[in-house]
Amino acid sequence: MTVVRVKGEDMIAVKDASSELKAYFESLSRSKGRDITYTVRTYGCQLNESDSEKLEGMLISFGLKKCEDSIPDLVILNTCSVRENAEDRLFGNLGEFKAAMREDSDRLLIVCGCMMKVKENVDRIKKSFPYVDLVFDPQNLHRFPVLLLQKIKRHKQLTDISIDDYIADDTLLDIRRQRKFRALVPIMYGCNNFCTYCIVPYTRGRERSRDYELIMKDLKDLSDAGYKEIMLLGQNVNSYTAYDKPYFPQLLRDAAEKFDFKRIRFMSSHPKDISDEVIDIMASHDNIEKHLHLPLQSGSDRILKAMNRPYTKEKFLKTAMRFREMISDGSLSTDIIVGFPGETEEDFLETLDVVKKVGFDSAFTFQYSPRPGTVAAKMEGRLSPEVMRDRFSRLLEIQNDLAYRSNQAKVGKTEDVLIEGESSGDSNVLTGRTSSFHLINFTIPDELKIEGYSSNDYEGMMCRVRFTEARPYSVDGIMESFI
Ligand code: SF4
Repeated sequence: MTVVRVKGEDMIAVKDASSELKAYFESLSRSKGRDITYTVRTYGCQLNESDSEKLEGMLISFGLKKCEDSIPDLVILNTCSVRENAEDRLFGNLGEFKAAMREDSDRLLIVCGCMMKVKENVDRIKKSFPYVDLVFDPQNLHRFPVLLLQKIKRHKQLTDISIDDYIADDTLLDIRRQRKFRALVPIMYGCNNFCTYCIVPYTRGRERSRDYELIMKDLKDLSDAGYKEIMLLGQNVNSYTAYDKPYFPQLLRDAAEKFDFKRIRFMSSHPKDISDEVIDIMASHDNIEKHLHLPLQSGSDRILKAMNRPYTKEKFLKTAMRFREMISDGSLSTDIIVGFPGETEEDFLETLDVVKKVGFDSAFTFQYSPRPGTVAAKMEGRLSPEVMRDRFSRLLEIQNDLAYRSNQAKVGKTEDVLIEGESSGDSNVLTGRTSSFHLINFTIPDELKIEGYSSNDYEGMMCRVRFTEARPYSVDGIMESFI
C-alpha cells in the first residue's frame, strides 16, 4: 500500500485555472445580470459525498451560488457504479437535461464519479449524449478546475479518464461541508479486496492511505472549527496504514483522545480485518459511536468463497458477538446481497441464520445485479427473478422485524442525541441520532425552546431525549434538556 502522493506542479496548475475560472464566471455573471448557479447531484456512498463536498468547495471558490429550484448554469452528476439501478438513473437523468442544454449555450453539464471509470459508460455518453460538456473520473477530482477551463476554452466535449491511481491529498482542496456539525474525513482510498461482485477496485484503484500527520492536521482544524462529529472514511478503514504498519486502531484512539469531538464514526469495516483492539477502543471511549457497520454479504461459507470474501460465517458471528458483549447498548448494521450466482436455498438459510443470531439493528439489503467487468458477472448459476424476489422479501420481513425490535428496546430510556435539524414532513419535530445511530424524531417542550430559533437552528446541538414510541425505522421522543 502506498501513501498518497501530491504532485506540486499539478496543484499550481489547479490554482492558476481556478483564478481564470473565477474571472470567467464573474464576467458571465455581469453579462447575464444575475448570479451564476450550480448544483451537484450525488449518487452512492459517503466517499462520493465527500468528493462532492470538494467539488462544491471549488465551485464556490469560482463565485458560483448553489441553486435549489430552477435549472442551474452548471450541473455536476457524481455517479456510482456499485448498483445497476444507479447507472440506469444516470442515463435517465442525462436525457432530462437535453432541452435545458440547447436553451442556453453557456450552461455546463458535467459527469464524474465511479461510473466514468467504466469504458462502456464513457462511450455511451460520447455517442448518445453529445451535450455533456465534461467527463472525468474520481482520480482526476483535484484537477477539475484545469479540466473545466480546458472545456470552456475548447467548446467541445472533453473526456479525461486517468490511467493511474494518483490522488491528490484533500488538504489541498477547499471543501464545502454539507452539514455544519459533521465532517467527512477520508483516511484512505481504493480497495485491494476484489470481491467478485464489486467494481470498486477497478473504479477507485488500489488502496492508498493518507498521510497520518495530514489527517491529524485536518482533525485539529475541524475540532478548532467546532465540528461535533467526524466520519473517518475509506472502502476498508481497517486497512489504513501509516509508518509501514497497520495503524487504524491508533488513528481511532488519537482521534478520540486528542480532540474535542462528541461523535467519531467510521465506515466501512471488512469483517476479515476488524480487530478485537478496534472493538475494545470503541468500548472504552464515549465519544466513539457505539455503532459498527459490518458487511456480511452472505452467511454461507461457500458463497463467501465465491464472492472472494475471506472470512467464514463462524468468524463473522464471533466478531459480532464480541461487539454485542463489549458494547451491550451498541448497534450493528450490515449489507447483504441476495441471489449471488449459485446461491442455493441452503446457502440463503445460512444467511438468515446469521441475521437472526446477530439481530442486526439495521441492514442494507440488495438483490444481486451483475456489474460488467467483474468476475461474478461471468459466473453461471444466475437465479430467476422469482426466486430472487422471494428470498429478498423473506429476508426483508425478518430484518424489518429486527429493526423494529431494536427501536422498541429504546422506549423508556433517555440518551444523548446529536440534532441533525428539522424532521422531514413536520417543522415542529426535530431529528437526530443516538450514539448507536438510531434515528430519533422528537419534540421540544415550549419551556426549552430557544427564542427566535427555527427547527433547523438547532442543527449540531446535543441534547437528552426520552424515548416514547418505536416506529419501524425510527423512535419518537421528547427532549428533556440541552447538554
Ligand atoms: S471490500 Fe469488496 S465490496 Fe468493499 S469496496 Fe472492496 S471489493 Fe468492493
